Amino acid sequence: MKRKTFLKTIAAAAPATLATMKLNALNKITSSLDKTPKMPVLFLGHGSPMNAIEENEFVQGFRKVSSEIEKPNAVLCISAHWETWGTMVTAMENPPTIHDFGGFPRELFEVQYPAPGSPQLAKETQTLIQSTDVHLDDKWGLDHGAWSVIRHMYPNANVPVIQLSLDYTKGPKFHYELAQELSKLREKGVLIVGSGNMVHNLRMVAWNKLNEAYAFDWAQEASQKMNNFILDGNHEALINYQRQGRAFELSIPTPEHYLPLLYSLALQDKQDDIQLFNDQPIAGSLSMTSVKIG
Ligand code: ZN
Repeated sequence: MKRKTFLKTIAAAAPATLATMKLNALNKITSSLDKTPKMPVLFLGHGSPMNAIEENEFVQGFRKVSSEIEKPNAVLCISAHWETWGTMVTAMENPPTIHDFGGFPRELFEVQYPAPGSPQLAKETQTLIQSTDVHLDDKWGLDHGAWSVIRHMYPNANVPVIQLSLDYTKGPKFHYELAQELSKLREKGVLIVGSGNMVHNLRMVAWNKLNEAYAFDWAQEASQKMNNFILDGNHEALINYQRQGRAFELSIPTPEHYLPLLYSLALQDKQDDIQLFNDQPIAGSLSMTSVKIG
């Protein structure tokens, strides 16, 4: 073969080889976890870390929703509390419980949630996401965005949990599209949980109404609009939240508590039912509204 022809052949073969490699990796995912009926997807409003140890209507809501779902093979959580440069996935065997808050009672700091990790699922998640490089992490663990809610759903800590981080350098559309790449995991018994709060402005908390179902006018307006967009399947409007006016600006002063919602919505199929629960404001500038998809 002439050198020129040889090079041409190599050039033509390379992309096909790469495509085959990706396909093989995807097939591997099919083999490592049993195929299951399609799992629902959740967005959970986590609110105060105290919800981890308090008994209230919100934790009852978390328990109820988990009782309606088949026990998953694993949970993949996108928490508001893990922002990184680039996208990471926790890949350790035993993720430590991270107490990433201050000024709370000792009792809360003593909580341990010893759910195992799943290095295998972490690797598969890394392979599944093609739009960006995903890095395997061995330093994080489970932050309170994950364990404060998941411990109510699976109190025996017998379901493996991994976390996917939020790349703080990226915009809402990037996050929505990245989440769509996770859809295969729904058929592998993986429960994907976004954990944040749709309305979340800690600077404007009504300190005299801390435990009350109270909303400032702007919080109520944004919450109502978000609910309508969710129920109408108007994801465009939710991705473009920065163009929705003053009430949204006040409700989403920083994106990290809102973005996990986009991860959950991105996984919605046409035939999925959609249900809101824990749909309550709290302390004026927060909402606990949670979503069950499918
Ligand atoms: Zn939070």
